[in-house]
Amino acid sequence: EFAEISIKDIDQIAKTSFPLCMRHLFEKVREDHHLKHGGRMQLGLFLKGVGLKVDDALAFWKAEFAQKVVGAERFDKEYAYNIRHNYGREGKRTDYTPYSCQKVILSTPGVGDHHGCPYRHFSEENLRAALARMGVGSRIVEDVIDKARNRHYQLACTLTFEAVHGSSCDAGINHPNQYFIESQKILQ
Ligand code: SF4
Repeated sequence: EFAEISIKDIDQIAKTSFPLCMRHLFEKVREDHHLKHGGRMQLGLFLKGVGLKVDDALAFWKAEFAQKVVGAERFDKEYAYNIRHNYGREGKRTDYTPYSCQKVILSTPGVGDHHGCPYRHFSEENLRAALARMGVGSRIVEDVIDKARNRHYQLACTLTFEAVHGSSCDAGINHPNQYFIESQKILQ
């Protein structure tokens, strides 16, 4: 298991070490103070995998959701259960595991959803803009777009990883949490 992360470091870590799929969800929840179910599952289980403890997870989601769309009371009633459930604290007490790239890539986000794999589910225009915001240079952006067009989504993600870390990733990216771990290895 990876070291714990705390809420105060999470914005910084999201910028440096989250793969684009999770970075996008994270930015959306900060922006909209809401995420639909598919996004809450994808990001929530990822955050659990990177070491966010259940109490910190509850505090993180509540701070966002309680701001706008749902009040604190409704959050406690409708959303807190699901978060504890993901951590195996409710229901069958299954300890749910974070989604692999394959699972994320095969998901089918609908209108208003922000989950999924950007290399597959973003328009080319949105993908270009997102990569530029991550600091990927324009030549590499074209390589990434090319991989995505040819449906090599994980290779596109690996190229992005290598560009933003200035370091090779020989294993390739196959899991969002693996992306995070490889990133932290380089940055720490
Ligand atoms: Fe996320 Fe995997 Fe897609 Fe990268 S390839 S953005 S880690 S789902």
